Amino acid sequence: MKCYCLNKFLTPLKKQEIDTPTPSGEEVLLKIKASGICHSDIHFWEGYYDIGEDKKLELKDRGIKLPMILGHEIVGTIVLKGSDVIDLEIGDNCIVYPWIGCGNCESCNISQENYCVNPRYLGIQRSGGFAEYVLVPSYKYLIDIKNNNPVTTAQYACSGLTTYSAIKKIDQSIYTKKPIVIFGAGGLGLTAISILKALNSFGVLVVEKDESKRKAALKAGALDVFDLFDENLESKLLEYNNGNKYKAVIDLIGNNLTSRISFNVLDKFSTLVIVGMFGGLSSWPIALIPMKAIKIIGSYVGNLNEFYELMDLVIKNKITPTPVQAYHFDRINEAMDDLRTGNVIGRAVLVHDS
Ligand SMILES: [Zn+2]
Ligand SMILES: [Zn+2]
Repeated sequence: MKCYCLNKFLTPLKKQEIDTPTPSGEEVLLKIKASGICHSDIHFWEGYYDIGEDKKLELKDRGIKLPMILGHEIVGTIVLKGSDVIDLEIGDNCIVYPWIGCGNCESCNISQENYCVNPRYLGIQRSGGFAEYVLVPSYKYLIDIKNNNPVTTAQYACSGLTTYSAIKKIDQSIYTKKPIVIFGAGGLGLTAISILKALNSFGVLVVEKDESKRKAALKAGALDVFDLFDENLESKLLEYNNGNKYKAVIDLIGNNLTSRISFNVLDKFSTLVIVGMFGGLSSWPIALIPMKAIKIIGSYVGNLNEFYELMDLVIKNKITPTPVQAYHFDRINEAMDDLRTGNVIGRAVLVHDS
């Protein structure tokens, strides 16, 4: 089969021909129809995360071995299945839950395999979606997408699931009754707006530096949008809320600036959910955290149960998919470049010949 392989960090993905895997037991082989490209793919391509003070978290020290086939937002058609596969048939179009754990660690034992200590994530530790086919370790990680469009559905495996899990970390009584603030209107931000609508939220205020992305957020249904680089941003946010601070903020960017502003607009008994990993350090006035009983929580992708809940909403057409910028599979390096340089509105998705 054809694949695009990362052989060396910071170099273009290389087209290669490798053996197509054969499934056995609970395994399933999908012919890929659509593969989303995620910001994490850019981090993996670069080979590190910025953790502040010029320090880097090197992926090679975290068990990530090259060569690797990236890509973790996958929709494909079942072409072969092992003898223990039930419920699914050849020809079904399925979305893949890629955050597969070891099955034995503390996180896996409490159904939080997305925090596994020895993960088998597709597109990170195991071959992912930048290929013609993908081998999924068990049918349990597949959901039939019925009549949904594979190209607009792939985003739910990471972007959609990540935002859904972040939203679920906020009390329902907050987001259904009061506006919440979201930093970032890339693919995740737009998806968050749409999911919050499906969950009957009061509404979302979006902070974003890029004007075209702010427009996209308004079009997706944000109550209002604000420029991240506006020097009066904090006062404008409070002005919108009649001078009040906010009970919940989701930071989808996660850098020095957004973490500082997020904190400054938090009210008593509020929740800050940090999702973005653009890096750096934050300097919060520590005394205010206990004084205001602020809850700061991180969120990384989502668990399998959350994926089932989210896909139930998707299949019932409760969520408007985030706009997609589609690229033919062979334009993968161009798509990665566009995403890295901020030139994608919505989600970048690779589309395969049918
Ligand atoms: Zn991702
Ligand atoms: Zn585990």
